[in-house]
Amino acid sequence: TVLNVGIDIGGTKIAGGVVDADGTIVEKLRVDTPVDTAALADAVIDMARHLRSAHDVAGVGVAAAGFIDRAREVVIHAPNIAWRNEPLKATLEAGIGIPVAIENDANAAGWGEFRFGAGRHVEHMVMLTMGTGVGGAIVMDGELYLGGHGIGGELGHTRFIRDGRPCGCGQNGCLEQYASGRALQREAGDIADTAGIGAGLAALRAEKGTISGPAVSRLVLAGDEGAIEALRRVATALGEACGGFQAVLDPELFVIGGGVAQLGEDLLTPVRLAYETSLPGYGDRPVADFAIARLGNDAGLIGVADLAGRAAAARSAAP
Ligand code: BGC
Ligand code: ZN
Repeated sequence: TVLNVGIDIGGTKIAGGVVDADGTIVEKLRVDTPVDTAALADAVIDMARHLRSAHDVAGVGVAAAGFIDRAREVVIHAPNIAWRNEPLKATLEAGIGIPVAIENDANAAGWGEFRFGAGRHVEHMVMLTMGTGVGGAIVMDGELYLGGHGIGGELGHTRFIRDGRPCGCGQNGCLEQYASGRALQREAGDIADTAGIGAGLAALRAEKGTISGPAVSRLVLAGDEGAIEALRRVATALGEACGGFQAVLDPELFVIGGGVAQLGEDLLTPVRLAYETSLPGYGDRPVADFAIARLGNDAGLIGVADLAGRAAAARSAAP
């Protein structure tokens, strides 16, 4: 089997792996994401070199949370990382020594789910990732949709609320501010501070000062009413937005990934409700299914390894 390296740069962790042609991870590594962008590139380079030294790999792919130019060379803008016109491909290739395929992190995850995960049986799917930001990927007619400038499918930066909260992209009111893992933390904090529902969040606040995403998830699973309300708010935002995405793209399936998606049906139930109540022509029209990312947090590294393998195959087929 052909092996490829996939590395996914997340908001908190960099996950890398050697992936075979069936999308199975053969070896996996994780490190914390450095805040400094030079250190971040070095960490990715180190990881790629390490994985390459242990396996005979055809290609290296790197998924990054930003707007990537049509040529797949430069990160034009990144809402949550200090990259502006960052020549990521060149930097990584200089350090790793072989061609590197770069792709938007949500696109990589969407591609991974389409090829090997929850979207294997459909031709039209939309992936949304709920993590530090809200990522989007569009697969239409079995192809990843990149747009005219390479930066289509940024579904987290569609305006959800007019004059809403400021966003890292320079706009305000973006869906990302209402439906990300960070938004879940913020809703949980608001509920802890106003009190009234569920004692768990206020107790967390008193004990730790900050409320982490995983802590909110644990309280949801424990049945805490405040945490469930926080989740209901972000799930509702996401589901309403999906009603609009349905109007534009008409996918067969929405796949939800990112840290918050570990909540499974606790997340999907309120998402579906909001989706259905926002859907134009509901009752008369076909609706999409919703699924949690089957590959979990590995979707991005698996997807970008597959894309890297395709790029490597195209290189060796070229005259
Ligand atoms: C970025 C996307 C990215 C998403 C998830 C958003 O803020 O604009 O490019 O896919 O976060 O990391
Ligand atoms: Zn935005």
